[in-house]
Amino acid sequence: VEYTTDVVVIGGGGAGLAAAVSAHQNGAEVIVIEKMPRLGGNTILSGGALNAAGSPRQVAQGIEDSPDKHFTQTYEGGDKVGNPSLIKVLTDNAYPAVEWLESMGMKFNDEVFTVLGGLWPRAHKPSTPLGTGFIDTYQNYINENDGIEVLLDTEAVELIVENDKVVGVKAKGLKGDVILNANNGVVLASGGFGANIELRDKYNESWPALTEIKTTNHPGATGDGLLLAEAVDANFVGLEHIQLLPMGDPVSGSLSGNIEQGVENRIFVNKDGNRFVDEGARRDVMTKALMEQQDAYMWVIVDKHSYPTGDTKNNFNESIDELIEQGRAFKGDTLEELAEKIGVDPTNLINAVNEFNKAVEAGGADAFGRTLFADKIDTAPFYAGGRVPTVHHTMGGVEINENAQVLDKNGNVIPGLYAAGEVTGGIHGTNRLGGNALADIAVFGRIAGESAAAKK
Ligand code: ADP
Repeated sequence: VEYTTDVVVIGGGGAGLAAAVSAHQNGAEVIVIEKMPRLGGNTILSGGALNAAGSPRQVAQGIEDSPDKHFTQTYEGGDKVGNPSLIKVLTDNAYPAVEWLESMGMKFNDEVFTVLGGLWPRAHKPSTPLGTGFIDTYQNYINENDGIEVLLDTEAVELIVENDKVVGVKAKGLKGDVILNANNGVVLASGGFGANIELRDKYNESWPALTEIKTTNHPGATGDGLLLAEAVDANFVGLEHIQLLPMGDPVSGSLSGNIEQGVENRIFVNKDGNRFVDEGARRDVMTKALMEQQDAYMWVIVDKHSYPTGDTKNNFNESIDELIEQGRAFKGDTLEELAEKIGVDPTNLINAVNEFNKAVEAGGADAFGRTLFADKIDTAPFYAGGRVPTVHHTMGGVEINENAQVLDKNGNVIPGLYAAGEVTGGIHGTNRLGGNALADIAVFGRIAGESAAAKK
């Protein structure tokens, strides 16, 4: 089959759907192709946290923040390797992206919070579980407006180039070849390569071998976009920077089962029951520290402040009671009982919690350099959940400019080709802040859609 439209979007995750909606809002007809049988990509598996500074929610909570502070933390948190002009686009447009999503009916909670490795309370949390709020919002827009078609089970295999311009996509559907002609442009939004062990091993320079490490990613995160882009001479940046989290499910590597509700109210202890890191630090810092602990295994410890009731849910739509029943979390009426259940030294665990509680009271930085605190861990029941390192995000990818146009190896724009989301590189440097991916895909997806819709 052959289709002709204005804008073709490759990938139906958060970046691709943002681009599709934005292109449509800018007057284009759009076709989205998604190789999996459903939309959603990694967004649908995520905890949903979106960093945006300068939000009235922060003002209401008395949190000081600004896009400039968000910029600085993002730039420095990636070891100043990210492209400052792209970071500025991200941090200046993150809150407007929240408003854009709200204009389409999306709901966020009133409270912002600090997400793992997010360094600051600016994460906006959708009112519906996981990333469903984002995907449902885009899906509703698509349902309610003519002019966006979604082809599932359709995998892009090649970009079509004519006279040095990208003019379409060759794809494979369930019934054979699909040709998609794009009058205006093609948006590459095919995600990263966290689920592709071969590519991970090929590019990884930040970690010991990752072959045995599992991933939080959906199975479609195989880096197809790199091959598509390579064939049109796109430039790549930062492929060696791969993000791990210290927060993988010990069995599956997934984010699910994570009992933390935010950075401030939990500590990590190793198999001896001792703390070992600033739990408010960067993701790479925490994961490296975890890798040095016995079996690279840790327990997240929280108390009733995080779960006022047994049916309180974590960020992954699981109640604490449900996790306990499944043997994925443990509960104790005292720290001693909890320590026994998880097999750590009770004296060490009690000491760790006592020291933490003193630090909460004292404020400032504790012995590990931790500065993010809220409540003490002093109210039963106490809970523990085991976690291991897991591959989460690939910071590198195709190089883009501020308009989300893809650049070639000589720094020139590749006409007709745009990219957004995890397939791109150069924004997050060596280490992406938690909560910045959902901001990135909304901001740059939106820009890519607008740029691609503009008739050249
Ligand atoms: P992002 O966060 O940047 O949106 P995701 O990984 O969440 O990235 O989403 C990317 C989407 O692109 C996934 O749904 C994935 O299945 C899809 N995808 C990956 N490769 C292809 C391809 N070759 N053709 C079509 N869709 C693809």
